[in-house]
Amino acid sequence: MNVFSRPTPEAQGLGMTSQRARDRLIARLKEEGIADRRVLDVLTRLPRHLFVEPALESRAYEDTALPIGHGQTISQPWVVARMTEALIEAKIPAKVLEIGTGSGYQAAVLAALCGTVYTVERIESLLREARKRFRKLGIENIRSKNDDGRVGWPEFAPYDAIILTAAGEEIDAALFAQLAPDGVLVAPVGPPGAQRLLSYRREGEAWKAQMLGQVSFVPLLGGVA
Ligand code: SAH
Repeated sequence: MNVFSRPTPEAQGLGMTSQRARDRLIARLKEEGIADRRVLDVLTRLPRHLFVEPALESRAYEDTALPIGHGQTISQPWVVARMTEALIEAKIPAKVLEIGTGSGYQAAVLAALCGTVYTVERIESLLREARKRFRKLGIENIRSKNDDGRVGWPEFAPYDAIILTAAGEEIDAALFAQLAPDGVLVAPVGPPGAQRLLSYRREGEAWKAQMLGQVSFVPLLGGVA
């Protein structure tokens, strides 16, 4: 069990990062259609304020994306919840691949629900901070690397689930190739301003996409930084 299954000292207080603030966020997510109890439970327990800069801690339980430096953002809680629901809907994945570690929040959510999370981030300093957070929270089932994740992480394939947290105009065939036959891939796809959150499953020889909503993610970029 990870340490965030117990309320942290600050979570027991009544400040902006308190359990009360988290509960308000959870109530809002339910209103906005998030229904999976397992996902709501993890979001209730996981201290999102530890994944943002100290100056933004007081806003950590608002349902908004927040800057994490280097022009990147921690995703909006509703989006994290919706993507996580889609990933665990059919079955709990033993192995998940995430492209775009960012703050590490989405990876930490998945680590609480799935077997092992493999996460790839192209900006080394963001990855370093994310790893510190995993350690602080006692999360031991996340493996991460600094690389261009557009081609996945073939070494540990196949994955039961793949999640992209940055948007490309299309999904590299290499990613589909690393998905288990009954696996699910969830990703924002499309140009800035017109991205759709899609959930893909194999149906015979073809990939069938389900539209989960309109979203606004940072772009999937090439190379490492
Ligand atoms: N899942 C993150 C969201 C971070 S924003 C969170 O919970 O905080 C998306 C991240 O994807 C950024 O950190 C960005 O640097 C990263 N990214 C963009 N293109 C990438 C690529 N090709 N490979 C790996 N990471 C990428």
